[in-house]
Amino acid sequence: SAKEQGRNTFRFYSENLTRKAFQNVLIDSALREAKSRNEFRLAFQPQIDIASNTFLGLEVLLRWHHPTLGTVSPAQFIPQAERTGLIQDIGHWVLEQACIAGCKWLAEGLPFGRLAVNVSAPQFRADDFVDQVQQVLAQTGFPPSRLELELTESVLVHDTDQLIDSMNELRGLGVQFAIDDFGTGYSSLSYLKKMPIDRLKLDKSFVDNINTDDSDRIIAGAVVALGQAMGLEVIAEGIEHEDQASALRDLGCTQFQGFLYGMPMYTSRIEAVLRKEAQRKTAP
Ligand code: C2E
Ligand code: MG
Ligand code: MG
Ligand code: MG
Repeated sequence: SAKEQGRNTFRFYSENLTRKAFQNVLIDSALREAKSRNEFRLAFQPQIDIASNTFLGLEVLLRWHHPTLGTVSPAQFIPQAERTGLIQDIGHWVLEQACIAGCKWLAEGLPFGRLAVNVSAPQFRADDFVDQVQQVLAQTGFPPSRLELELTESVLVHDTDQLIDSMNELRGLGVQFAIDDFGTGYSSLSYLKKMPIDRLKLDKSFVDNINTDDSDRIIAGAVVALGQAMGLEVIAEGIEHEDQASALRDLGCTQFQGFLYGMPMYTSRIEAVLRKEAQRKTAP
């Protein structure tokens, strides 16, 4: 009967909820140990400029392998780390390890361009964030001009003086800012004129169907035009197919990141890619 079905549906639903809540508790406690157990690694994904045919930079993406939970996606564990506050410690680790890797590559003459590090809203809003970045830069010796911080619109939605001061202070050191997942947030665009932003990252959701969905192509074109008019660079993320890149090129976008140009790679693989790139650059 419908009543029974309803009950079953409810039981199924609540079992799912319980399982999900249980899973979250497991992830929370496992996350607490992850750093000390060396379960985190960084992956690096190329960002390229097809106009100059060069590496613009690498986005730094955190990876977590747990012995029993397996590989947990950052899309799952980052929001949880934000809720529990663990993101402060994890975010510091990511920044530090990225700068250490970048220094090694600079010493080896590997042409990686910039390192783009994702920063969560609660991380950026922490009172000591600017000090933290300065400290990591000073301790590692990584050049600030090679560091880009990727912020989402959720950071910029509260455009307080303190937030703007923090950004200006970092910008004063040479640090750059990109707005991640641009076009998917709920904030007004007024922050674009108040904040020192260098680059918009056009969200993958507008790229996926750019050749079949008129609205997506129109939005992508508007973002590229907005960037050009405001003197901001625009990079499109999540490019998987050549026809997506060519549609974006027709709209005036030349900066790309996506599986078509390179997967996120662990250190040894990205170093091999960078070595090849160095050879290509010095070849006659
Ligand atoms: P994001 O910053 O927008 O990063 C881009 C995501 O898209 C990455 O997922 C990347 O692996 C994926 N991606 C890149 N190119 C393609 C493509 O062509 N096709 C498809 N299908 N996917 C592509 P990932 O690594 O799973 O990270 C998910 C999100 O987790 C990131 O989105 C970012 O918001 C967050 N995240 C990752 N690492 C960190 C970190 O160190 N700190 C913080 N705060 N957040 C991080
Ligand atoms: Mg990002
Ligand atoms: Mg993104
Ligand atoms: Mg995204």
